[in-house]
Amino acid sequence: MGPLVSANRAKVLAVALAVVGLGVLAFKRRAVAAAIGGKLTVAQLDQRYGPLRLGVDYTEGAQGRINVKPAWVAARIVSVTLFDGKIVKLHRDVAASFAAAYRAAVTESGYHPASVQTFVTRHILWDPAEGLSLHSYGIAVDFDPTLNPYGDNPSAKIRRFPAFIAAMERHGWEWGGRWSRKNRDDMHFQRTAG
Ligand SMILES: [Zn+2]
Repeated sequence: MGPLVSANRAKVLAVALAVVGLGVLAFKRRAVAAAIGGKLTVAQLDQRYGPLRLGVDYTEGAQGRINVKPAWVAARIVSVTLFDGKIVKLHRDVAASFAAAYRAAVTESGYHPASVQTFVTRHILWDPAEGLSLHSYGIAVDFDPTLNPYGDNPSAKIRRFPAFIAAMERHGWEWGGRWSRKNRDDMHFQRTAG
């Protein structure tokens, strides 16, 4: 009976270690997401706009994409028609704020983005090792990704229109162009002020 007990103990220990390991991994991912996410921690963000829980609200997809349950989307994501006729999908709690911010930014600056990317269910930088992108919650937008690429790009188009950035920020949208050089994301704005 001795060896059998030991084997069971070893099994219990292995399961316990696996659980701790998963916990550490989850914590690490959350820390990365919080650092990139700005004002709200992932826990606060989950509470405010989610929650988005692996296995409950979404499953992992291919190449950094996640598959969010239709019920989650139906309860939170709405289609918004912007002043210029563009139709975008956003979290219902930030949709009106974005529509107002976008209208002000375009009219005050003269910069009229051709491409406005909003609700996309994925990890940060499409990397499964990273946390969830705020685009997955419908609270982030990207303007003209090819003209305002990720990284340190002083010649990004949006940088020629400071009034555009100022109007977005005035409406509570945080600009990724202010992040550290390593994480700079000129195309990206997110609503972190609730
Ligand atoms: Zn973005």
